[in-house]
Amino acid sequence: IKLCGGGGQSEYHPDMGAGLRDQAELLQELRLAAERQQFKLMYQPKIDARSLQVTAAEALLRWHHPKRGMVPPSVFIPLAERHGLIGQIGQWVIEEACRQAQQWRTRGLRMRVAVNLSGYQLRQDDIVERIEGLLRQHRIPPERFTCEITESVAMEDTQVTRRAFERLRDAGVHVSIDDFGTGYSSLASLRRLPAAELKIDRAFVCDLEGSSDAQSIVQAIVQMAHTMGLRVVAEGVETPAQRDALVAMGCDELQGYLFAKPMSPQALELWATDDRPT
Ligand code: C2E
Ligand code: CA
Ligand code: CA
Ligand code: CA
Repeated sequence: IKLCGGGGQSEYHPDMGAGLRDQAELLQELRLAAERQQFKLMYQPKIDARSLQVTAAEALLRWHHPKRGMVPPSVFIPLAERHGLIGQIGQWVIEEACRQAQQWRTRGLRMRVAVNLSGYQLRQDDIVERIEGLLRQHRIPPERFTCEITESVAMEDTQVTRRAFERLRDAGVHVSIDDFGTGYSSLASLRRLPAAELKIDRAFVCDLEGSSDAQSIVQAIVQMAHTMGLRVVAEGVETPAQRDALVAMGCDELQGYLFAKPMSPQALELWATDDRPT
């Protein structure tokens, strides 16, 4: 089966993929950006497939480079992971998302806030304590906070990740398995991970219209997830046809450009409180 969008892999950016010297330079600038916290979070809503209410806002990291412009996370996050910067950056993401969540709550917006956790963060001994501390500090109920962890990270080093999943669950945090379907997990290994949500990778959603294989896979994932009591979110929904197919297959929540692109917190607040066409 052909996966469009390269199976969730990063796109090629000629400007960024250039020689080693450029990579070293970018790394140096990333270190500075991490120290000076030159990052922003954009938020993309997840929508309840039936009511079309906003259920959550996923925080997506943005680095606006003074000269290069917007450096995509697919370029700088792998770099940060390779060079030990992701701990610091990831901590800032959690703090900032909690701060934003508190602000939204005081304004009556009750959606969850979701952050993406890297494997490095999941292996930090005190990651759950850090998250719990920030949730307390910002008076956010843990079940209103989602940690998105990719299937491939969840399946590497299963002892450690399973323990982290369990501790997040015990803390009451909502755990989501991201990019599902690309990591070839077995049903049995998925069952051992206490998660609340499963996100079907964009590559399958993108293929829905053309490929009956993709349709069967998505249908099987939804049924399996529901059997295990997981909510199913489809990411990367771009067309009404994809939306309709996903709703017909029983997906619980939808996310994608069809509904909204990642937005500034202010824009999302307006969008979430606005009357939207259905
Ligand atoms: P992801 O977690 O799978 O996030 C979804 C990506 O798909 C986002 O790209 C989003 O902007 C994009 N997207 C959403 N809807 C659509 C759609 O309808 N069509 C298409 N073509 N794309 C859509 P983005 O923001 O560039 O992020 C890329 C990846 O970088 C994320 O994939 C995630 O793995 C990683 N990332 C982003 N922020 C963070 C972060 O704070 N921490 C960590 N560890 N990783 C992050
Ligand atoms: Ca993805
Ligand atoms: Ca995600
Ligand atoms: Ca994803």
